[in-house]
Amino acid sequence: MFEIHSLRIGELYLPQGGAIHRDPVHVWLVTDGTQHFLVDSGMARIERVEEMLKVSGWGGGPEIIAQELAKHGLTPDDISHVILTHMHFDHADNLEAFPNSTIVVQRDEVFHAIDPAPTQRPFYKKHILNELLGRKRPAGLQLVEGDFDLVEGIRIIKVPSHTAGMQVPIVTTAKGKAALVSDLGDHYKYWYPADPRATRKPMRYLSDTFLAGPIRSESERDWCAAMRKVLDNADIVVPAHDFRIPMHMPEDWWAVPESNDGDIAHLSPEGAGENTSEVS
Ligand SMILES: [Zn+2]
Repeated sequence: MFEIHSLRIGELYLPQGGAIHRDPVHVWLVTDGTQHFLVDSGMARIERVEEMLKVSGWGGGPEIIAQELAKHGLTPDDISHVILTHMHFDHADNLEAFPNSTIVVQRDEVFHAIDPAPTQRPFYKKHILNELLGRKRPAGLQLVEGDFDLVEGIRIIKVPSHTAGMQVPIVTTAKGKAALVSDLGDHYKYWYPADPRATRKPMRYLSDTFLAGPIRSESERDWCAAMRKVLDNADIVVPAHDFRIPMHMPEDWWAVPESNDGDIAHLSPEGAGENTSEVS
């Protein structure tokens, strides 16, 4: 049985409607005490992100990941596999910190990173692609196609949606199966648009449906089919950029959080670091 630790490695401050939308950035440690996996490898140090995308925030870089792993008595060398949900800048950087790990990525995602949908160009970075393709050991890169069991207890399903080669690991824990859905619905509101706890603005007319995200390579229909596929295969979903995700599964375990505090966190320029949870 696996346990999952959400490692918060930084935040992005995204201008949105005259306010600042705060997105926490996570990677996930999946461990049974003997085998250790990382899901996603996060973003570069924030200074570099600012240079690349003109977006501010805090954190990022390999040191924070190493610090977070150290809290669990691990180093990057203990990670056997880094599973990349997709290759966007805030999910697939820092690979150089894992020279001895096997990077697991869908073949279609690599092609998409080389030749992205035009709207996705800003999110794919050449240095990340180069780092992936330049893996020194043959075992350093595992290109995969479709659904498969990486090991017993970690099933990978391919769900083209946010990107063409999106994959979601489904991890078996003592309480059930947790899907680390990453940016296939990166906040609870996409999964439960009619639930008042999922957002401050519940959309009841969408009852019993999903909400497709704005950044996607596939149609809304395909996006929603991907979400249905995940829920058919898992008990809970863990979005990538929501402040309310469980930090330690299965101890923390919820389909939707108890409240909508932290749903969309805004901060004033002087309020950096405070989670004011205000929506304009
Ligand atoms: Zn993304």
